[in-house]
Amino acid sequence: MVDRVYNFSPGPGTLPVEVLQQASKDVLNFKETGIGLIEMSHRSKEFMAVADTTESMLRELMEIPDNYKVLFLQGGASSQFFMIPMNLLGDGKKATYLNTGTWSKKAIKEARLFGDIEVAFSSEEQTFNRVPTQDEYSVDSASEYLYFVSNNTIYGTQFSSFPETDKVLISDMSSDILSRKIDVSKFGLIFAGAQKNMGPAGVTIVIIREDLLDKTPKNTPTMLTYKTHADKGSMFNTPPCFPIYVVGEVLKWLKKKGGIEAIEQINIEKAGLLYDCIDGTEYYRGHAEKASRSLMNISFNLPNADLEAKFIAEATEVGLNGLKGHRSIGGCRASIYNAFPREGVVKLVEFMKKFEADNPA
Ligand SMILES: *Cc1c(COP(=O)(O)O)cnc(C)c1O
Repeated sequence: MVDRVYNFSPGPGTLPVEVLQQASKDVLNFKETGIGLIEMSHRSKEFMAVADTTESMLRELMEIPDNYKVLFLQGGASSQFFMIPMNLLGDGKKATYLNTGTWSKKAIKEARLFGDIEVAFSSEEQTFNRVPTQDEYSVDSASEYLYFVSNNTIYGTQFSSFPETDKVLISDMSSDILSRKIDVSKFGLIFAGAQKNMGPAGVTIVIIREDLLDKTPKNTPTMLTYKTHADKGSMFNTPPCFPIYVVGEVLKWLKKKGGIEAIEQINIEKAGLLYDCIDGTEYYRGHAEKASRSLMNISFNLPNADLEAKFIAEATEVGLNGLKGHRSIGGCRASIYNAFPREGVVKLVEFMKKFEADNPA
């Protein structure tokens, strides 16, 4: 693996090498069938077993209760921005959103096509450098659900504890699903695009409490109705076979690592190494307020934009890739999802210290 670099890409993100090696074999010839995994019928017994394994591994690792369905959908996490209000908000009904970054803003825009949307909190004026505490917002009693983004991929903020509410709680966990232990039973719906922390682009996982499947208005298109997919085990039409398979392999890898509790400890340690480096100097400045810091995406600045450009270019030369911040805030961002190795974080910290010494502000 000499030609692989440390890949800090925010998404699609780095995947475990073992998974990529297994996938490259299975794409050519899956389980001695003489047929590649991406050439076989989704109704073949081989692929049905893959889909079953992926779902049961996810249920086991996340301890998903039996009254929840797991759906494998297409259209990206972004399609959930409209599918959620389309299915769960009846005409003239209200929902509450917490605006903590680009992805919540986009979800709010789509939700407004379907109902009355209350934005109970926004950190937009502080360039989304924090998420709210429980006492900073209230939810209208007429609201159908409370929607929030658990980890803000671009700004590097994360809810360290989840909103407490008697409403249906909905979360976009695209960039931190499987990174820490959560209690699924507190949620009505959780969704995540696979390409940040679970697999390749092409599948979006939706975990939905069964009673919510009956809320969908009658005139909703079949493919956009959650129940269609729930009733058919995500096989109403051809599912995204390859991404589902890779997610399954990533879940097996995660289980071997000790599951979510073990990876959570590793994630805390990895992020701690980077934040300690940032906090140890005035040279680097973290974007997020301390109480809102993400363990997955660490956004930071250098003294000026010229130094940031030089930093990113020189890091790339030594095999530290993908550190450029999102165009909406600039600076640098290190995305260190589950599969990102600890050694890569250590190498980045060493590089940051040397860069600071070599390039005084
Ligand atoms: C990347 C991302 C999305 C968008 O995902 P797509 O699959 O590209 O639509 C949505 N929400 C969050 C939190 C993300 O990080």
